Amino acid sequence: MHHTVHIPLSERAYDVRIGPGLLEKAGALIAEKLRPTRVLLVTDSNVAKHDYVDSVMQSLKAQGVACHTFIFQAGEASKSLYTYEKILDTCTGFSLYSGDALIALGGGVTGDLTGFAAATYRRGIAYAQMPTTLLAAVDASVGGKTGVNLPAGKNLAGAFWQPSLVITDTDTFNTLPPEEYANGMAECLKHGVLFDEGLFASLEHGGPVSAAQVARNVELKRACVLADERDTGRRRLLNLGHTLGHAIEKVSDYTIPHGAAVGLGMVMISRVFCPAIVDRLCAALESNRLPTHCEYSIQELFSALEQDKKRAGNNITIVVPLKIGECELRTMPMSELKRLLEEKV
Ligand code: ADP
Ligand code: ZN
Repeated sequence: MHHTVHIPLSERAYDVRIGPGLLEKAGALIAEKLRPTRVLLVTDSNVAKHDYVDSVMQSLKAQGVACHTFIFQAGEASKSLYTYEKILDTCTGFSLYSGDALIALGGGVTGDLTGFAAATYRRGIAYAQMPTTLLAAVDASVGGKTGVNLPAGKNLAGAFWQPSLVITDTDTFNTLPPEEYANGMAECLKHGVLFDEGLFASLEHGGPVSAAQVARNVELKRACVLADERDTGRRRLLNLGHTLGHAIEKVSDYTIPHGAAVGLGMVMISRVFCPAIVDRLCAALESNRLPTHCEYSIQELFSALEQDKKRAGNNITIVVPLKIGECELRTMPMSELKRLLEEKV
């Protein structure tokens, strides 16, 4: 069963297709939407170990589309200007023109890198995103953020560039390492806490997610991104667990994965502002192989937070759960948040 979520952005609308067995259909979907002569498929060395690349290539060839691949070394370190430049060089070497396309087959790193190359090559060409991680499927496939890291920090060079279509073959999640799967589950649970108790209830006991659940996550994220186009600030709700989560990632020197850190951030904020949900939230995280106990002190986390340039003055805006399925934004002095956390966590 396939699901389609339409993303009606004013500048460029696109569809997100979600379901099992979609790799084999990618060629037809891409040919129908973009009619490219050539495509460059970008993927990383882990994804390339599976037969996913072959499936997509075969399906493109069947449509008469010429296809080259670019494979980079898997890992965040490859999300660099160096790899970006190599991709652009490959585009020119393969004579990709404005009517052609890039395909990102992989997780967030592949999507961000390829999207940024697509945003800038010849002032922008089309790209299709094919997320192979749960995290990329429920998070990176909506929002249009692309970019690379600079030596000074993550995502410091980038652009907003929407994919022309997103094709999520949920079968590819079967080969994800358990910790990568858990990473994606943290964002799914976050969507449940924010907007949808039914979704949360369907995920809280663990187990693999269905295409319908992935589609529901994409719909929830879509609602935030579209509301934000109208400037309501709803998108900021997506930061639930992320303020403290980013601090935890930073203090751990990025040894704690993003999803695990976001889960911990949600637990800490709930302990202060919504203790009634803490037990249920922790049980859900545990059932999904995510940690619930943060080993760092509030002092350590705030040292990292204070370097966060996004913070306006002495105040901080955080996302606070009211119950499972409903949250709100709250602004308070940093010192107040710190005091509350020290008292209650
Ligand atoms: P994300 O930000 O989505 O977690 P990454 O690009 O960092 O994405 O991917 C996480 C890790 O999972 C990387 O090591 C990547 O090579 C690997 N990976 C991505 N998709 C798959 C898959 N379907 N099967 C196995 N490993 C995968
Ligand atoms: Zn996140």
